[in-house]
Parts: sequence; structure tokens; C-alpha cells
Amino acid sequence: MAQDVLCEVSSCVHNVRGEKCAATQIYVVNHREKDAASSSETDCKTFEPSDL
Ligand code: SF4
Repeated sequence: MAQDVLCEVSSCVHNVRGEKCAATQIYVVNHREKDAASSSETDCKTFEPSDL
């Protein structure tokens, strides 16, 4: 189980300083509903937009 999730998505309400994720858990899914062959083909479904 991941303990520290590094993430640069600063536009997400769960993100801390554009460095890491503070969500209790995250849900990562295949990009466009096909089996991923690389990291670029995965997405974080826990993302929620922050009020920047
Ligand atoms: S929920 Fe997903 S996008 Fe948002 S900070 Fe966590 S890992 Fe990044």
C-alpha cells in the first residue's frame, strides 16, 4: 500500500504544495477505458478541482 503519493497536480483540492497527495486513498483508472501500456495511459479519478 502506498504511504506517500507524490503528485504535481496543484489544481486538485487534495494536493499539497504541488508536491504530494493528502487524500486518504486514491483511485487510479485506465485512461479512456483501455488497458494501460504506460503511465501516460492512467488517470487519477480521485481528482477534485480546487478553487485556485
Ligand atoms: S487526488 Fe489524485 S490528482 Fe489529486 S492530489 Fe491526489 S493523486 Fe494528485
